[in-house]
Amino acid sequence: MPASRRVLRVRGTVQGVGFRPFVYRTAVSLGVAGAVWNDPDGVVIDAEGDVDALDALARAVETSPPPSARVESVESAAAEPAGHQTFTIRESDGRGRTFPRVSPDLATCDACLRELRDPADRRHGHPFLNCTDCGPRYSIVRAVPYDRARTTMSSFTMCGACAAEYDDPADRRFHAQPNACPDCGPHLWLEPPAGEGDPVAQAARALRAGRVVAVKGLGGFQLCCDASLPEAVALLRERKRRPAKPLAVMFPDLASLEVEVVLPEGARGVLTSPRAPIVLLPRRPGSRLAPGVAPGRTELGAFLPYTPLHHLLLEAFGGPLVMTSGNLSDEPLAASNEEARERLGPLADHLLLHDRPIRTRVDDSVVRVADGRERLLRRARGYVPEVLDLGFEAPPLLAVGADLKNTFCLTAGQAAVPSQHVGDLAGWESRLLFEEVRARLEDVFGVRPRLVAHDMHPGYHGTAIARETGLPALAVQHHHAHVAACLVDNGRRDQVLGVAWDGTGYGPDGTVWGGEILAADLAGFRRLARLRPVRLPGGDAAVRQPWRMALSHLLAAGLPGDRVDVPGRETVEALVHKGLNAPRTSSAGRLFDAVSALAGVCPHASYEGQAAAELEAVSEAGAEPYALPLAEEGGLLEMDARPLIRAVVRDLDAGESPGRVGGRLHAGLASALARACRRAREETGLETVALTGGCFQNRLLLEETTRRLAGAGFEVLTHARVPPGDGGVSLGQAAIAGWRSRG
Ligand code: ZN
Ligand code: ZN
Ligand code: FE
Repeated sequence: MPASRRVLRVRGTVQGVGFRPFVYRTAVSLGVAGAVWNDPDGVVIDAEGDVDALDALARAVETSPPPSARVESVESAAAEPAGHQTFTIRESDGRGRTFPRVSPDLATCDACLRELRDPADRRHGHPFLNCTDCGPRYSIVRAVPYDRARTTMSSFTMCGACAAEYDDPADRRFHAQPNACPDCGPHLWLEPPAGEGDPVAQAARALRAGRVVAVKGLGGFQLCCDASLPEAVALLRERKRRPAKPLAVMFPDLASLEVEVVLPEGARGVLTSPRAPIVLLPRRPGSRLAPGVAPGRTELGAFLPYTPLHHLLLEAFGGPLVMTSGNLSDEPLAASNEEARERLGPLADHLLLHDRPIRTRVDDSVVRVADGRERLLRRARGYVPEVLDLGFEAPPLLAVGADLKNTFCLTAGQAAVPSQHVGDLAGWESRLLFEEVRARLEDVFGVRPRLVAHDMHPGYHGTAIARETGLPALAVQHHHAHVAACLVDNGRRDQVLGVAWDGTGYGPDGTVWGGEILAADLAGFRRLARLRPVRLPGGDAAVRQPWRMALSHLLAAGLPGDRVDVPGRETVEALVHKGLNAPRTSSAGRLFDAVSALAGVCPHASYEGQAAAELEAVSEAGAEPYALPLAEEGGLLEMDARPLIRAVVRDLDAGESPGRVGGRLHAGLASALARACRRAREETGLETVALTGGCFQNRLLLEETTRRLAGAGFEVLTHARVPPGDGGVSLGQAAIAGWRSRG
């Protein structure tokens, strides 16, 4: 039978995931000749053989690629047979400027884990083993195409045994770029040492003695301590200057994790996936963990070891460890050994170091699992640099994102590339990280932005960054960006009712927004409704002092302010009355703060959103909703919280629990939203609602609102692939700016 020839072009996450070896093995088993290679667009397969075999090869590429690959498209073109006799893997060619894909970092696979634990294996106990299915990728890559010379492994020369694996197409380490073994790979040590022997055993000993150890992980350092020892947890919190924010806990295995938390449907798969994120899970009663791990919370951020080093450490220690970002609160992760000695030296008793450099810092990701689906709250390791499809062709641009929980976003063609979580742009260190990651992603994706998108807030750090680029700039309203992010997250572009509820965002009318309903698409928005504004006394000071919002809401509701018994109350009351340093705000987040403070749950906060999160944690589901009447005010629909505040005070005076009050608040807001959306539907004919903004990280609010909207016949869009909070804003800015300036 005469041979046919086809050239297949495969796009998606297909580099650094064992794709070429997979194609090689499949082709050889089918008797197909030709070649496979990486180019900046993905993978190209030049295949020659009989038609059935070529069909089978194309089918295998689409339907059974390696576990970590994501095939987005396969194009096929016929070609003149060239008389190939064998199948080969070609080295990457560095030409071309279009759109390469680098895989995110991948958690240790089962095959590598078996070797790690097998005393007869030459990699037994080797903290840096990996293969084509697992190991570091994005965090060590310096340039594309992805191969060893362009990673931080370039300084390690493979020994004969490793080189033989690397060159053998039948081996599962064939072209595994970070391939290493104890003879030729990176090595590990503890500073200062804690006794003799294996550094992992030394570290485990120090941890058992209640010490804090900084561990060089995949995308940066982590601080860890014994999660069961209250003194150790208190010490870590004090040194890290993180008094209350929950700490993540890494468990040795699923069985020990399930002792502490309940796994909803789908959670097991997320925990054990190659992405291995921190998953927020409902806690079981009777916890054996120190209470200081997640005070006031009914959820725990739990995850599993995702590098060989984590596996070895957790096994040697034999129990759960607090595993949190290696930084002072609000600063980015430390990544180099020098940086760790300098910045983490004062925080940790020991540093567990190695000599494989981290090229790009990338923090642990945080997700929830709802409706069997993972929902990102912090998008970083394991997810970045995967791209999202905009659904249209945008010019290359940079969207700088929001100032808090910053991410930024690049676009190239139809693709949006959201960066990993950067942090709060107010800090100098975060600004440096922003520039570092930006340079890396621009290199990896070959993007040179021609436009910059930023928030409308004139005082935002992001606005200054945008100005400094010297590029033509486009200002995007904060809540419009939230709604756009939700649209892209759901693969949509049509106009919707966007419920954008969060802490605060700059409103073009001189008030602080945060409780709006917009009619919006990528082209523009119109404000339809909001929470009735109250004063925001002291501006940002109100974020850490929820009692200020309690006072403001009491006064707005015509109640005496002396219920708030805090020093400085009179001064703040005067600010509210005079409207001095107290802009008007429709913020829903600040209403949660107010009720949390009134109910005595959290009058003083150490981080943004603490009061609302702690109120959510105690709130009862299915409570009788508080009333928020709707009124027309200057062409806007207003949801009036004054009767709600009066009812809260009545309930508290009657001895109702914070849990009941909180439950009624959540139900009341959900019910008000559903009614407001029905009114907006009558006016606009829009039947789809997008729920976005930091308030929709609140699961109770999300569930109550979704249920009521669905009951009223709405289609409801929620977030999954990017956070509903400010981490998603850059994607929304990119989509809006890209749409407005498209071809
Ligand atoms: Zn592996
Ligand atoms: Zn070796
Ligand atoms: Fe926001």
